Formats: sequence, C-alpha cells, structure tokens
Amino acid sequence: MLLYSDFSLKDSNTFNLAAKAEYYFEIAERQDLESFIRKRRYFEMPRIILGNGSNIVFSKDFKGVVLKNLLSGIEVLQDDDNQAVVKVSSGEDFDKFVDFCVKKHYFGLENLSGIPGTIGASAVQSIGAYGADVKNYIQEVEYYDFADYSFKTIKGEDCKFGYRDSIFKNDLKDNAFVTSVTFKLEKKFVPILDYDYLRQRLSEFQILTPNIVRRVILAIRSERIPDFRQFGNAGSFFKNPELTKAAAEKLKAQFPELKAYEQENGKVKLAAGQLIDLCGFKKTEEGAKVGVAKNNALIMLNLGNATGKDILAYAKKIEKTVKEKFGIKLEPEVVIC
Ligand SMILES: Cc1cc2nc3c(=O)[nH]c(=O)nc-3n(C[C@H](O)[C@H](O)[C@H](O)COP(=O)(O)OP(=O)(O)OC[C@H]3O[C@@H](n4cnc5c(N)ncnc54)[C@H](O)[C@@H]3O)c2cc1C
Repeated sequence: MLLYSDFSLKDSNTFNLAAKAEYYFEIAERQDLESFIRKRRYFEMPRIILGNGSNIVFSKDFKGVVLKNLLSGIEVLQDDDNQAVVKVSSGEDFDKFVDFCVKKHYFGLENLSGIPGTIGASAVQSIGAYGADVKNYIQEVEYYDFADYSFKTIKGEDCKFGYRDSIFKNDLKDNAFVTSVTFKLEKKFVPILDYDYLRQRLSEFQILTPNIVRRVILAIRSERIPDFRQFGNAGSFFKNPELTKAAAEKLKAQFPELKAYEQENGKVKLAAGQLIDLCGFKKTEEGAKVGVAKNNALIMLNLGNATGKDILAYAKKIEKTVKEKFGIKLEPEVVIC
C-alpha cells in the first residue's frame, strides 16, 4: 500500500483538472483496506474513492485522503451453454472487460463499449448507454464496509439501482468501497436494438455479431464525444430530466421540437443536451476555457487549462439559462468534489 502526500490528480481525472490530494493511498490488494483503517490518523480524515476519474469534477484541492482503486483480477465462476458468471475486481477497466466478454462470447455488455471507468464505479454510478444498463447483468457486488470494518456482499436486486443511482450513492455513501462485481452474462447473443440511432447504423449489416455491435458503438462514440485526452470531459455532465406526463405535454405545447421519451415508471424523459443546445450553448466564444461539444451539448469540455471552478461556473450558467427558458432544473450526473 503506497502513500503519497500533495499528490497531483491532473492525470487521474478525464476533465484534466489540476488539483492535489492532501494524501493519496493506492489500494492494490484487498488487505490494503484493512491496513488503511488501522492508520487512524488518515482513516478519520474526509476521504474519496477514485477509480479512473471519468465522472468527477475536482473543484479544488482535496483536503483528506484519496483512495485510488487498483484492485485487479477476473475470475470466471461459471461458463455453461446458457450463462457465464464472472467475478471482476473493482479496479479493472470496464471497457477492457467488455472486450474480454465479446472475445469469450459472453453477451449483454457490448452496448456499453467505450465507457472509460472502472468496474467498481460501473455499479456505483449504475452506468448505461445505447439502450443497455449494467444493472441488468450485475448478480452481486462485494464491498468493504468502513462502518464496521468487514467485507460484505449485496445482491444486484438489493443495490437500489436507478438512473445513474445506486445504494452506494445513498444509504452506503462514504462507507462502502466496492471491491468486486459479479456479472451474469448470456451465452446466446440477442442484440439490444432499443436505441433508434444504433438500430439505424446497424441496419447495413446482414448478420449482427457482438463484435460488430461493439465496433459500431465505438465508432458512434468517437464521432459524438471528443477524446478526453484532447478536450477534457466527463461524458454527460447533467442527467436527462424526468417530468410527469402532464408537465411534459405542457412544455411540448410550447416547444414542439422537444424530444420526449416515455419511461416505464410513467414519467417522460427529456434530452438535457437538446435543452442546452436550444439555449445557444454550442456557440463558443473565442478564447473560452469551457464549452460544450459541437455534436452533443451534454458533454462539457475543458477547452484548455480550465479549473474546476471554471467548469462549475459554466455549469451554473447552463443550469440558470435552462431553468429560465424551460422551467427545468438540471441535475449534475458528475460527482463534484
Ligand atoms: C468520454 C466519456 C464517456 C462516458 N460515457 C458514459 C456513458 O455512456 N454512460 C455512463 O453511464 N457513463 C459514462 N461516462 C461516465 C463515467 O465513465 C462512468 O460514470 C464511470 O462508471 C465512472 O467510472 P470511474 O472509475 O472513472 O469513476 P470515478 O470518476 O473515479 O468515480 C465516480 C464516483 O464513483 C465513486 N467510486 C469509484 N470507484 C468506487 C469504488 N470502488 N467503490 C465505491 N465508490 C467508488 C467515486 O468516489 C465517485 O463518487 C463517460 C465518461 C467519459 C469521460
């Protein structure tokens, strides 16, 4: 277990924000968590768990301990004609695991190709994309509980997964370090084609394979989302807002161009990116440090040397403008530290 102080986090967040961690511990083995709790001085400080930093905005230096997750390992627990069950350590890269699954003919996660986070955060953030949700493939999650110093396992159905939400962001917030996620995957490939644009792009193929789905999704992502190594970003900055049916109908009467998607819970989801776009944010001023992506206004970009404060100030400006024009309060999807 390695400890650093005054550690630069610039290379540890995809927004490419310069911030320092007062203390930075690397958790490379499960026992490192037990060693950490014995270091009472550090254990009593504020802490944050860091995966790949792809959904985080560091608004300032972090006063306390950053626990960097480097837990690694993939174990196939079951592989029969119908299903595969795979236990994956939480510091593994999510997209590398998707690639592993596609090559092994374990299906379900291929629509989630190209998401640049860790396995642990995929459960915490309840990731989803192109019509697929990770929650549908999570059998159980193991975590270390800082409240009573023990490893625990929770079943997927008890994780209270919601739209970019889970028990780890609420009841277990601050106390659970996810150590592994066990996935239950299909052996028979059934493409998930609920997302219109994906269906359209896949229609040129006579036969669909998981590898084709993965390649097409990676291509769509590279067209729509600027590479964070060039323009720092954290994917979607805000959540897509959900309205009651009545409220959505009222708004659509005023703005007929609004895209609206009925949800299973009876609510209607609007596209936050479209709301931001309609407020004129795609036009970027010369020399601006922050802007939004030309192909997707939901992606806020560090256009060069922006600080976390610059990002948050721009987010506030977007929130205020969207509220004034549409009466909708946007909620950040990113975690702000
Ligand atoms: C270019 C780009 C595209 C993206 N596309 C998508 C997308 O299509 N769909 C989607 O859902 N998301 C997307 N994201 C967002 C992001 O990749 C996911 O939320 C991802 O799961 C975050 O993983 P991470 O390891 O980087 O987490 P981090 O950013 O490091 O952490 C995120 C949060 O999870 C907590 N956390 C991390 N690891 C653990 C752990 N082991 N135990 C407990 N808490 C933990 C952190 O404390 C923090 O609160 C995208 C981001 C980028 C930059």
